[in-house]
Amino acid sequence: MFDLGTGARLLGRALLGRPERGVNVFISHFHIDHLFGFPFFSPVFAPSFTLRVSSPAFSGDTTRDRLGRYLNGVLHPLRMPDLPAPIVYGAVRPGVPNEVGSATVTALGLNHPGGSCGYVVSGGGRKVAYLTDSGPLSRPGEGLSGGGPPTAREAEAIRLLRGADLVAMDTMFSEREYMEKMSWGHGYPEYAALLCRAAEVRTLALFHHSPDSHDDALDRLAEKWSVGFDGVRVIVAKEGADVDLEG
Ligand SMILES: [Zn+2]
Ligand SMILES: [Zn+2]
Repeated sequence: MFDLGTGARLLGRALLGRPERGVNVFISHFHIDHLFGFPFFSPVFAPSFTLRVSSPAFSGDTTRDRLGRYLNGVLHPLRMPDLPAPIVYGAVRPGVPNEVGSATVTALGLNHPGGSCGYVVSGGGRKVAYLTDSGPLSRPGEGLSGGGPPTAREAEAIRLLRGADLVAMDTMFSEREYMEKMSWGHGYPEYAALLCRAAEVRTLALFHHSPDSHDDALDRLAEKWSVGFDGVRVIVAKEGADVDLEG
């Protein structure tokens, strides 16, 4: 599971209905839109359920302390020690693989104020990546953004993403909006498509939509990209959607 946004509420309910009694959560970064769902994630109230929560940090203590700034009795009535489920806190380092059951999860450093990590999951002959929040990994006119060979950061991303079945990537802005808000650390569809084509990704899911993007705008975005991009299938991420990796 990646991040603890508002989607964690319904996912938590679904997980409680399954036989497994544990979940691994990887946090991209600690901006509040990625944490809101933490105290609404039902498994944290199930003593039989074990959570392992990891983030890009120097230690598991750092992960716990950062989450604890949210569950401090002020921003939410609960405090961390009130949660009945056992929670193990971990730390990840970009580029260092983590074994999770039969899968491998590797963090990739992204381009965002304060830092953020994406995650690439490999297992069972499949590869899926979650890349948010991030601006392009090259500046306008450089690397893939400039139509040239990849920068070093892009080359590392391409190495990890190579042949992925699905990549969900931050495309909050249009290219024009990105040019106006380059320091915000969010991307745009044309760049995501270039990166995915370079890594021979099968399906790109446009993700982390702008709060200003109402449903009609997202429908238009899906229509515009329905033809894909040079062999990459492009879809628009939607709450509750299932993606069949065999399809
Ligand atoms: Zn952020
Ligand atoms: Zn965000």
